[in-house]
Amino acid sequence: MKNCIFCNQKEQQLVFKIKTYSFPWKIQKCPFCKAYELYPTPTEKQFNEVYNTGYYGKGKTKFNPLIEFFVDIFRGMRASRAVKGIQKNAKILDVGCGSGSFLNFLKKKYSFELTGLEIEGDAALRAKDNNKGFTLLTGFLKTTDFKAPFDLITMYHVFEHLLTPHEDLEHIKKIINPNGKLVISIPNIDSWQASIFKDKWFHLDVPRHLIFFKPKDFKKMMQSKNFEINNERYISWEQNPYGYIQSCLNCLSKKHNFLYDFLKTNVKNSYKKRDLFRLGLHILFTGITLPLFLVLDILESIFKKSATVEYTFIYRPKND
Ligand SMILES: [Zn+2]
Repeated sequence: MKNCIFCNQKEQQLVFKIKTYSFPWKIQKCPFCKAYELYPTPTEKQFNEVYNTGYYGKGKTKFNPLIEFFVDIFRGMRASRAVKGIQKNAKILDVGCGSGSFLNFLKKKYSFELTGLEIEGDAALRAKDNNKGFTLLTGFLKTTDFKAPFDLITMYHVFEHLLTPHEDLEHIKKIINPNGKLVISIPNIDSWQASIFKDKWFHLDVPRHLIFFKPKDFKKMMQSKNFEINNERYISWEQNPYGYIQSCLNCLSKKHNFLYDFLKTNVKNSYKKRDLFRLGLHILFTGITLPLFLVLDILESIFKKSATVEYTFIYRPKND
C-alpha cells in the first residue's frame, strides 16, 4: 500500500480488489482522512492513455445526438441551480470544462465572465472549437494562473479525477471569493450501487477515478477547510439510473461498459454480428429496466444512498 493521496498518511487498508481489468487495481481506504482511493495511482502513461479519445469521444460531442439531447436538458437544469443567487457579471470558473458545453450554455443565457479549465488533450481542443465566448485555460488546477477571484467555481465530476486533490482544494481557497460558491459533484462510495456492485460499479470508473469519500466524511473534510455546506442533492436523473443499468450489464456481460462505449461517439463501429446482438440485448435491457431505476433513484435519494451527490458549499474564511 502507498501513502494516502489526500493526507499522505501510511497504513492504508485494503477494501477490495478489482477484477474487471487485466491490471490488478485495488481500492484502499485511509483510516485518517477516510478517503477511498485507487491503488496504485495510474502512471503518467496510463493517465494519458485514459484521457485520449476513449474518454471524451472523437466527434464534436461526447455522446451520440439522442443522448446529447437529454444531456443538454440536464445541463440546463444544472446551470440554473449553480447560478442561483449569483449576481450579474459575476466571475465563474468551470474546472474540468470538457468540451465547454456548460460554459457555452451559461454564455447564451446569462451575462457572466466565464473561464474554463481543462487538461491538455482532445477535450480542450474541442472546447477551443466550440468556444462561444469564455476564457479557455489548459493545465492542472494547482499550477494554473487565474484571473481570480471567482464568485462561483463548479467541478462536475472532476474531484474524483484529481491526482493532487488536497493541493487543488487549497488552491481553490486562493482563487474563490469569500462567500463564493463552490459546486462539486462526485460519486458516492457509500451508495447502494457501490455496495452492491463493487468492482463492477459503473461510477468506480477505473482507472480514471482516483478518490472517493462517504458524504459525511466529505462534508466534514470540506468544513475543516472553511467550506460550509449549503446544499446537497442526491437525486440525479443524468447519472444514477444509468449507473444502475450499466452496473447490472457489467455483471451480466463479459464486456465491461460495452453499452457506454457504444453511446460515446469515439468508438469506430467495427462491430461484429455477435456484438450487434449483444448491443441489442443491452438496449432492450435498458428500455425494460429504466422506469424501475428512475423510481429507485427517488428512493435512494431519500435515504441519501444515491450513486452520485452534488454538493454546494459557501466559502467562509476565518479571519484569524
Ligand atoms: Zn488520508
